[in-house]
Amino acid sequence: MTRPTTLQYITCRVCGADGEGEVFSLREMMYGSREMFDYARCSTCGGLQIIEIPSDLARHYPSSYYSMQPGKEPEPAKGLKGMLTRWYCRSAILRPNVVAERLVRNLLPPPYDFLQVGRYLIEARLHGTDARILDVGCGASPSRLAAIQRCGFTAVEGLDPFIVEDADYYGVPLYRRTLAEHLGLYDLVMFHHSLEHVPDPFETLRHAARLLRVGGTCLVRIPVMGTYHWQRFGINWVETDAPRHLHLMTTESIRLLARRVGLQVLKTIWDSTPLELAASVRYERGISLRQTPRITDGFTESEMIVFTQQTHDLNREGNAGRACFYLGHV
Ligand SMILES: [Zn+2]
Repeated sequence: MTRPTTLQYITCRVCGADGEGEVFSLREMMYGSREMFDYARCSTCGGLQIIEIPSDLARHYPSSYYSMQPGKEPEPAKGLKGMLTRWYCRSAILRPNVVAERLVRNLLPPPYDFLQVGRYLIEARLHGTDARILDVGCGASPSRLAAIQRCGFTAVEGLDPFIVEDADYYGVPLYRRTLAEHLGLYDLVMFHHSLEHVPDPFETLRHAARLLRVGGTCLVRIPVMGTYHWQRFGINWVETDAPRHLHLMTTESIRLLARRVGLQVLKTIWDSTPLELAASVRYERGISLRQTPRITDGFTESEMIVFTQQTHDLNREGNAGRACFYLGHV
């Protein structure tokens, strides 16, 4: 277990509590610069946050950063295949009737877009394929939004203050702005591994709550602090990702943060992947994420099978390194 280097008095930017926090020094290991950054752990919610937000944070998002890469989307399936894909997604996500849902889930193979992202919409309480959906921190090539569109949803939009300009991505409008600058009402506001990157999670989630329709859902996928991955790997846990991940929240952090903005956690789905275990073992061995072409390089097939089984168990137990939280108005 990683031991703290010292204690420091902090005000938690997530739950708002003051107190002495344990300090941990984390290394930049995605690109392997090994620069050190100090983080403090809130004594109230258990979340970990970078003590000082670097003034030159943009330097740590080089042009090769994955979400800013230009993307190419597959052609939407046409004819019968396209109809079946949209029918599958609509039946499995909106669940208009039990028979259709059981039919598609038991008889048809799930379409790729459903497996990638559509499955996250099942718990989002959407009323129809015209539900308004906003993805926050979508990047310049929001494949996720394009996939949701291919699942049959017609009103999807993306927002990211770091894209070059407003744009249209395969028919999906993208806005270059912060959430605070955005107006509208949405059935679903999504953060897919973006909330851990924002300097002020409270302000960000407050604006997400403002943009939610009554009965709407805010979906937050984040790394989860304090679970098996932190206990086992500590500062070598791949999701610490210093200094890009400014805040690493526990289940208690997200519960308290939601409450501060008038939301509550309705449902939690754990969605770690075996690659997190593999990458964390690499960090222990001093191998950065980008040092070899694939994260699985250096592991045998049987080692990866063990990681897969272990991840499956951790997700089932609710003790894994990543989760998807569904929030709704109190
Ligand atoms: Zn806290």
